[in-house]
Amino acid sequence: MTDATYQMLWDCKFCGQKKLLGLTHRFCPSCGGPQDATSRYFPPDAEKVAVENHPYVGADIACPACEHWNGRASKCCGNCGSPLQAGKDALLRQDQVHAEGVDAPTDTAQAAHQDFQVPGTAPKPVSNPPEKRSHLGCFLSIIAVVAVLALGIFVMFAWKRTGAFEVVGHSWERKIEIEAYGPGRKTAWCDEMPGGSKELSRRKEQKSTSKVQDGEDCQKRRKDMGDGTFKEVRECSPKYKEVPVLADRCDFEVMGWKTSRTLSQKGTSLKDSPSWPRVDLAKTGTCVGCEREGKRTETYTVRFVETKTKKDTSCDTPQSTWSTLAVGKQYQGTVSVVGGSVNCDSLKPK
Ligand SMILES: [Zn+2]
Ligand SMILES: [Zn+2]
Repeated sequence: MTDATYQMLWDCKFCGQKKLLGLTHRFCPSCGGPQDATSRYFPPDAEKVAVENHPYVGADIACPACEHWNGRASKCCGNCGSPLQAGKDALLRQDQVHAEGVDAPTDTAQAAHQDFQVPGTAPKPVSNPPEKRSHLGCFLSIIAVVAVLALGIFVMFAWKRTGAFEVVGHSWERKIEIEAYGPGRKTAWCDEMPGGSKELSRRKEQKSTSKVQDGEDCQKRRKDMGDGTFKEVRECSPKYKEVPVLADRCDFEVMGWKTSRTLSQKGTSLKDSPSWPRVDLAKTGTCVGCEREGKRTETYTVRFVETKTKKDTSCDTPQSTWSTLAVGKQYQGTVSVVGGSVNCDSLKPK
């Protein structure tokens, strides 16, 4: 961490002498004109003049009577003798920030008048990292793609038209899954294997990533002290990179329940009243080859013909609705334009 003090520069507005020293030359060495605190600027790197053991007392103060600039320690104006209590502090130049190893941005007395720091606001860095902007561009294009996809899906599901339909048939299906107990092969992180598992093999795989420090980014900040000097401070922040974190992945055998077969019962008319398939289990209990009942599912489908287009269509409903839609009855309802299936919930008798 270096923290050095250097002289600001100023140009004499009376004789045109350039690059006078902010601290050493309170008056122009060629014409004797007084230094104007508002015309100071930062020097190029090659022309920096260091200040050793400089006692800093504060920013210069302007005489309220004659506007002559005085050092902060003065009680009365060096030009006219007026008291300085009511005088204004010298405004400070915006901090100059630049990446380490790059020359400081060019500064001139003309630019100096335009970028004084407004007291109480944070100084803005001179260079913006261009990386931020490209991330934003990437982010916006992802949003655009997602929006188009969402719109497409919305149109597929929401785009409907109305039509008239006649019921032409019914069908139903009831299923029961049968699970068998026995050894099954699974893969998991080795430290998450359930108790009683038999390990078959293990290997290294990437489980996550972690951030580790990878050097640092440094910049130099020049701070106008307001008394003809500036401080140059080196500011560094750590850089990070992501590295893979490996862990043991295991293939193992474990005893458990697994769907081994599915029983199904079907019907094709309202007259076949729905029933569950008969369940015959090989053996009950918990043994290799034992069986138990798993998930039950039921589906009730009504088939229609659209009156106008003569096209077949169908939809699934709860059993209570399904049993009330008799063959030959006419209904008004909506049908999705993409896919062409009728919406059972929209049906109203004609
Ligand atoms: Zn001069
Ligand atoms: Zn004065």
